[in-house]
Amino acid sequence: MTENWVNETLYAEWGQRFLVKRELAQVKSAFQDIRIFESHLHGRVMLLDGVVQITEADEFVYQEMLAHVPLLAHGAAKRVLIIGAGDGGVLRRVLQHRTVEKAVMVEIDGEVIRLAKEHLPRIGGDAWTDPRATVIVGDGIDHVRQAEAGSYDVIIVDSTDPIGVGEVLFTDEFYANCFRILTDRGLVVNQCGVPFMQAEELRETSLRRAKFFPDVFAYLAAVPTYVGGFMTLGWAAKDAGCRKVEVSEIRRRADVAGVLETTRYWTPEIHVGAFNLPPYIGMHLPRG
Ligand code: SAM
Repeated sequence: MTENWVNETLYAEWGQRFLVKRELAQVKSAFQDIRIFESHLHGRVMLLDGVVQITEADEFVYQEMLAHVPLLAHGAAKRVLIIGAGDGGVLRRVLQHRTVEKAVMVEIDGEVIRLAKEHLPRIGGDAWTDPRATVIVGDGIDHVRQAEAGSYDVIIVDSTDPIGVGEVLFTDEFYANCFRILTDRGLVVNQCGVPFMQAEELRETSLRRAKFFPDVFAYLAAVPTYVGGFMTLGWAAKDAGCRKVEVSEIRRRADVAGVLETTRYWTPEIHVGAFNLPPYIGMHLPRG
């Protein structure tokens, strides 16, 4: 029998491939090609337009860092907006915080949500039915245009890369509206690519955020299947103090929120350390 390999198509000249154990879904939605399969080493894997979005084996790295860092850096986040993230993993981590009162998730592609619930049920877990969650199928840019000023404490953008439907989430208009709809100490984080391979993405989106936010930075996570070394998570905050909180205070906040010692990647030390950027990455951020 011939082996079924899936080659990731992110870069034309270099990539990773997975040996497929079992195909689970191949769907062409109104927005993208969605493929989910069972792999041999990484559990179930989801690709959008040929690009790896999530594997069951290492999703914890990305989701923990995308959810716990902004919430604990803020320290009193009650209302959280999540854009994209249709697999449900960020929603689940956000709702782990008993201090969060409301989480609104806006995902453009209802098929991603449907297929994730069917084939990746552990990723979203009980979050889908949590009474604090509101899941909207719609475009993130429309939601931030229409939301009232000061309606969220934290915004988490877990989008595809800045091509296709995800492109609007990297624009001036998007960041201007994020600033407007955040509360006084509000902050926004987003997935910002792997800078060893995608430095432009970090450089351009950081410059854009700096037009609106006084504190623009990035922090690191090492996600094995986002190949090319560290990935950067972009950071834009109204209050620079949020990324300078001591380890002991982050630990205290995590304890109060109920997330301390529930994690496999995030720790208070990693939280603080993740803001220390190697020069090859830091050079792409605007000088303050
Ligand atoms: N964790 C993944 C990664 O970094 O590769 C990304 C997660 S994936 C679930 C990103 C989601 O963003 C996709 O489901 C996609 O449909 C959604 N998305 C892209 N553009 C969007 C937009 N304009 N508004 C809302 N969701 C969007």
